[in-house]
Amino acid sequence: MNSLVWVVMDSCRYDTFMRAATPTVDWFSGFNNVLVERRYSYASWTSPAHYAFMMGLVPHRNVAGVFASEVYKEDLGQWTERLGTGGLDFSKFIPHLSLPKVLQEMGYLTIGRVSLPVLNETTLLSAYFDDYRMMEDHNDFAGMIREMDFSGDRPRFYFFNLGETHYPYMLKESSLPRISGVHGAVRWLDREQESSGPMPFFDEGTMERLREQQVRCVEYIDGLLGELFRKCPKGTHVILTADHGELFGECNYFGHGPVIHEKVFEVPFVEGKVPKT
Ligand SMILES: [Zn+2]
Repeated sequence: MNSLVWVVMDSCRYDTFMRAATPTVDWFSGFNNVLVERRYSYASWTSPAHYAFMMGLVPHRNVAGVFASEVYKEDLGQWTERLGTGGLDFSKFIPHLSLPKVLQEMGYLTIGRVSLPVLNETTLLSAYFDDYRMMEDHNDFAGMIREMDFSGDRPRFYFFNLGETHYPYMLKESSLPRISGVHGAVRWLDREQESSGPMPFFDEGTMERLREQQVRCVEYIDGLLGELFRKCPKGTHVILTADHGELFGECNYFGHGPVIHEKVFEVPFVEGKVPKT
């Protein structure tokens, strides 16, 4: 069995990811076994998308002409290859439908680090993790990587949810309103309700600036991935994806959540095994 590292860039659009300069992802995707694809999320916002992940369902290919049950079965069957082990089929997920539970029972040490408050450690998402914690800082992928430790005999399952690609995209400017309560981060929701009136919607220029900033955030993350790959033992299976996309003015929408638009469901999907470095 090999270790598994699953990185979710929260809110990262597929086209944002493809536009960004990502030399580390390019290096990784140059190996034969590595897949880079456009996929689709099962949900338009953070919580339900992560519940699907914890069921072992990665973003889907939106294939027509097949029954959904066949897609789920095939997808869950992929874990045999991802984990480098035999005898792990669809039935192992029944009835609890929990990837961390399956991994725990196989002997994995299961570790979750999340950035978005809707995923905090008191939620059901933390079930079957040996160690699950919300990071103090919304933008601390570097800290997650620093903590990674593969010593000892047990294979690891690291699950990382990154805040860097989520609004406000690492921007600290006071000109941007705090709209975390609207977009999945509930930490300051009460305070906002006390103090603020209706919020003016973003103009076109702001939308474009934020769209560009999300590209910069992906480039920042790519800059950290080199260290992640260096720490992973050879053969570790790495998944890099997003929980949903983001709208920057399409059809006059911003963000994600209660929105039906293709760009909210379209996500990048990269997976493969870490080569010898
Ligand atoms: Zn999200």
